Amino acid sequence: AGVLYVVATPLGNLSDISSRAVEVLREVELIAAEDTRVSGRLLAHLGLSAGRMLSLHEHNEQARVPDLVLRLSRGATVALVSDAGTPLISDPGFRLVAAARAAGVRVSPVPGPSALIAALSVAGLPTDRFVFEGFLPARGAARRSRLNALAEETRTLVFYESSHRIAACVNDLAAVFGGARHGVIARELTKHFEQVADGCLDALGAWLAADTDHVRGEFVVLVAGAASVSTPDTAAADKVLSVLVDALP
Ligand code: SAM
Repeated sequence: AGVLYVVATPLGNLSDISSRAVEVLREVELIAAEDTRVSGRLLAHLGLSAGRMLSLHEHNEQARVPDLVLRLSRGATVALVSDAGTPLISDPGFRLVAAARAAGVRVSPVPGPSALIAALSVAGLPTDRFVFEGFLPARGAARRSRLNALAEETRTLVFYESSHRIAACVNDLAAVFGGARHGVIARELTKHFEQVADGCLDALGAWLAADTDHVRGEFVVLVAGAASVSTPDTAAADKVLSVLVDALP
């Protein structure tokens, strides 16, 4: 029977590929890749042939799905990879996975790097509950309105951001959540210029502005959740309640 393997690839450091990922990439009949040039470089590094690749990106995924699912149903083994990290996480593949599952094809993960989890693992923010918000809207007004909707969120917030918008993004985070809220910027994880900066959002904005190198590369931005109902408020509410209870006949 056919199998669709969803294979995680490195975020930057090529040694982060798992042995099982190499094995699967060596053995499958077809590799569906977000960008065949990027994945071609990875395959070349691993000494594997790049001849079995087919492109599957945002713009052609819908059109490619029926043929791929047909091949899978007829017994083909296919690996899905994206440019970096785990496919489907702010990357193409959702339509293919959904269609393969609907057709009864086995879909099997070959887990590995994802910038989201890598950043959470070093940020020092609570990870028992978190919300992944992916990329915020590119335009300022839409971005601030999205952030306004998240202002009361008590779980740790995680965003992806590009170098073009990192400064504007952190300024808006400070404007909407308040400059005193704690945040973490994880930049170029697993790469040569990896940096993880933390502080209040105002300080992080200043850190970005202090050095043009700080706004280069790829970013995960994490923000502490809004403080849940504070103790004094609860105490006050309890007091009102006890007064009311006492007044009841
Ligand atoms: N599928 C990927 C994953 O599992 O993390 C994410 C793909 S998304 C198109 C690319 C974004 O992920 C970047 O803009 C950045 O926000 C984040 N990212 C990817 N690699 C990173 C790295 N090495 N350091 C920090 N952020 C990274």
